[in-house]
Amino acid sequence: MKLPKLIQTATKCVHSGTQIDENQGGVNTPIHTSTAFKYLEDYEMKYPRMANTSNQIAVVDKINALEGAEKGLVFSSGLGAIAAGLMGLLEPGDHILVQSDIYGGTAHFMHHQLERIGVTISFVDFSDYTEMEKALTAKTKLIYIETPSNPLMKLTDIAMVADFANKHQLISFADNTFATPLFQQPLNLGIDMVMHSGTKYFSGHSDIIFGYLGGKTSLINEIKTAQVDFGSTLDARLCYEIERSMKTLHLRVERAAENAMELAVWLENNSSVEKVYYPGLPSHPQYELAKKQMNGGFGAMMSFRLKPNIDPILFQKKLNIICPAVSLGGVESLIGSPYLTSHKSISQEERDHMGISNQDVRFSVGIEAYEDLKKDIEQALKQ
Ligand SMILES: *Cc1c(COP(=O)(O)O)cnc(C)c1O
Repeated sequence: MKLPKLIQTATKCVHSGTQIDENQGGVNTPIHTSTAFKYLEDYEMKYPRMANTSNQIAVVDKINALEGAEKGLVFSSGLGAIAAGLMGLLEPGDHILVQSDIYGGTAHFMHHQLERIGVTISFVDFSDYTEMEKALTAKTKLIYIETPSNPLMKLTDIAMVADFANKHQLISFADNTFATPLFQQPLNLGIDMVMHSGTKYFSGHSDIIFGYLGGKTSLINEIKTAQVDFGSTLDARLCYEIERSMKTLHLRVERAAENAMELAVWLENNSSVEKVYYPGLPSHPQYELAKKQMNGGFGAMMSFRLKPNIDPILFQKKLNIICPAVSLGGVESLIGSPYLTSHKSISQEERDHMGISNQDVRFSVGIEAYEDLKKDIEQALKQ
């Protein structure tokens, strides 16, 4: 589909990537289910594991447009994207710098797969520039960030990391799952590669798992081989559902972020709540950075710490609308205790060190009516 170059995000969500049905004039991308393609005629060689079929391309083109990526790839999960990305770019002996508080599954992959093949890793607090420089070795090849982070919504200065990477000739890699390209575009801030767990906001209905990687053509071409070899590809039928979900990405995410902003302010003034972690609050220690690198909103993820007199489990059990569940980014509000979910495999001591308390709850704010969410929390806090 031919689109003008400077269209806005909402228009990209709806139209970018769509492959008009030339045969019948339908306005949606037709689902092409073939995994076998004729080879004696004048067609480009296609095979779904090569991620070169039309439904896969439609999804990639839409996300490329949103992230401002030259080229991209889709995968069967977010971890599939991370695995192919890192295995495609790294070799035994390489060293990488990783933000200390990244998604647990990503850290697990790094420890169990990258270290196994002889890649060394330094987990570093990226709010400390001297620590970053100290961690560099002659073999450092890549720097990996995730902002805002889970569950305490700490920010990493994206432009600073991009500069650092340029200065030391590293590949910079950013997980943009929490913010979505609506509120943050790492590539436009100088990062080389952006990654998404599409399972979250892109799918948006807690019913599809997929992943995305985008960035410079040269890097994506290097990764492409790893994708084909590891086989983490995406089926055409799912691609269509993703396209359909993403047409409302802006509406869902904007609405959820509005709810999150209002709830954050309300929770901060609630006598049962000790602290709220949300980058849109002036009390967030990196509020100025949030305003600098996020635009149009601060996302729909937050955490809050309950006062010691509130039992966090009883609180979650008493909720009627907000559901205690793992994962995030769906239209429905989900809540969970990090010490029992995302950070369960980490020792109490490490959690203390990271500043994560058993009184903390992580809240993926959905698109329900703000008043209903507020009342639900209000009644559950009455213990
Ligand atoms: C869920 C998640 C991942 C992993 O994605 P999957 O789709 O579960 O493989 C990576 N990073 C972040 C921030 C996530 O939330």
